[in-house]
Amino acid sequence: MFGSVVVGIGTAGFVRIRDMLAPLPSSAAEKLSVKGFISRRTLEEQQGVKQITIEDALRRDDIKVAFICTENAAHEENIRAFLEAGKHVCVEYPMAMTHKTAVDLWDLAQEKGVVLHEEHIELLTADFKQLKKDIAGKKLEEGSLHFTGGPLKPGFGFPAFSGIARLTWLVDLFGELSVTAASMEEDQENKYMKMTTQLMTKEQKPLTWIEERGPGLPRVKNINFHFDSCTMTQLPPAAREPVGLFMQDLVLFSQKLLGQVPRDQLHAERRRVLHCLELADRIQQLSQQGQGSAQEA
Ligand code: NAD
Repeated sequence: MFGSVVVGIGTAGFVRIRDMLAPLPSSAAEKLSVKGFISRRTLEEQQGVKQITIEDALRRDDIKVAFICTENAAHEENIRAFLEAGKHVCVEYPMAMTHKTAVDLWDLAQEKGVVLHEEHIELLTADFKQLKKDIAGKKLEEGSLHFTGGPLKPGFGFPAFSGIARLTWLVDLFGELSVTAASMEEDQENKYMKMTTQLMTKEQKPLTWIEERGPGLPRVKNINFHFDSCTMTQLPPAAREPVGLFMQDLVLFSQKLLGQVPRDQLHAERRRVLHCLELADRIQQLSQQGQGSAQEA
């Protein structure tokens, strides 16, 4: 069994505890057992699980795994502490706020011989799986993905990082990308922001990615993909799957702990995660230069 702790009791932290208390029967997730949670607040028992200190968690031999579910700005410090102590880590996306930090953390995990896993539930949704099937074999001409949602709480970082799930969709659908331009509009007083990014596929086909957040904006992904054979303007309908998204991710992480995930898959995942974070870095850089094009930079 892998004794585990959950760090950060927000939405994701609550779900991690819930899922470890009732893992998918006959799955690798049954090998996890939750030993406690860590919070900066002093909290009562959560779902029957007790609060412990980080010092305790780092020291205890029966704790082998940490789930990092804090706001994004606190991921690095927590991941580093647990990796240094030789514990396996599952972190909710994004792993870190810069590409370089993620590379360092991954190197540290390798040095310590432990698993570092970044959750990507957006790749596990039924609508994404259906979309991927539907576009297989089609040739992209151009496309856009426009996400809208409510304002984020502090600590979630620049939108290219907090919105890495959308970028990950584009990379998973169309392959590795480059950034040609990025800009950011922000009205802090009204909690409004809009990041607009121009990307290019390896086949030199343009993609636009927009993250727009503000009070009252619905949480929606609008797609517009032009292919050689058709145009797609809506996500395909897909039936909800019986196993929840975080549970699917928990099973994948547990399989990694048990050495059941092929090396090729691990490499491909690491490459995708680091590629997306590298793009996010570049987008942030270009946006903050307050101009446009990568060719000029
Ligand atoms: P959240 O805002 O619910 O919690 C984030 C942090 O804020 C946690 O450390 C939590 O302990 C703290 N917090 C929450 N309520 C608080 C309060 N009342 N007072 C003081 N602190 C409080 O955020 P979340 O949705 O759980 O996101 C955590 C991480 O999970 C982020 O990295 C996010 O990107 C990632 N993530 C979340 C989801 C999701 O569906 N919620 C999906 C994918 C990834």
